[in-house]
Amino acid sequence: MLSIKDLSVAVDTKQILKGLSLDVPAGEVHAIMGPNGAGKSTLGYALAGRPNYEIKGGSVDFNGVDLLDKDVHERAAAGLYLSFQYPLEIPGVPALTFLRTALNAQKKLRGETEMSAPDFLKRVREVAKTLKIDMDMLKRPLNVGFSGGEKKRMEVLQMALLEPKFLILDETDSGLDIDALKVVSDGVNALRSPDRGMLVITHYQRLLDHIKPDRVHVLVAGRIVRSGGPELALELEAHGYDQYLGEAA
Ligand code: ADP
Ligand code: MG
Ligand code: MG
Repeated sequence: MLSIKDLSVAVDTKQILKGLSLDVPAGEVHAIMGPNGAGKSTLGYALAGRPNYEIKGGSVDFNGVDLLDKDVHERAAAGLYLSFQYPLEIPGVPALTFLRTALNAQKKLRGETEMSAPDFLKRVREVAKTLKIDMDMLKRPLNVGFSGGEKKRMEVLQMALLEPKFLILDETDSGLDIDALKVVSDGVNALRSPDRGMLVITHYQRLLDHIKPDRVHVLVAGRIVRSGGPELALELEAHGYDQYLGEAA
């Protein structure tokens, strides 16, 4: 589904990803683990098409389409969703307005008919309930004054509404207490399906107790230095990343 080959990416002339290769088949959840500064968020941004993330080499095939050739909004319309490590606050834009605009923009790009206001509200209510999100919160400006846990639940609400084909979760666990982690993980697990792929980026093993990955990859200094099954995450928790730092250098 997602096939990354030899990807090199620079930000402000600094090379961060240095020949990264990775395949995520449909239906699978792959975890990316690595130390701070390894390039995990850079990978997410480069896939999503963030400006100033300069592709120096390599290719990314997404369901037979050259992803790197597409604009940000085309990638989103193709079904790619990046959940930010630090969700943005957007003063002046109520969360509900944001959600409806995003959903209808996506439908328009896909040539589908827009959702009516009552249908939209009904759908939001259903999903918000499962995520323990109060409808009053959704009338407030997007993420402004939301707690860390509320921001992450808001991300999962967006995913559930937009139904992306491929999800990239960038440290969705950061700043979550154990109850919020459970709610967020349950929400993500509900989105697992045979025709949807996921890349779960995390620094800690903890999230992977809740979102069980099919494969685990270790990202150090811009490259995947090791891949394995879920047991690799436990090994990393026990031994840390030190053993890989020399290898990467
Ligand atoms: P991770 O998510 O694994 O912690 P990042 O992808 O955020 O790592 O960052 C990788 C490296 O790129 C770090 O050394 C970071 O300082 C650097 N970096 C990130 N953004 C920029 C930028 N805008 N300009 C220069 N360097 C950057
Ligand atoms: Mg980091
Ligand atoms: Mg990061």
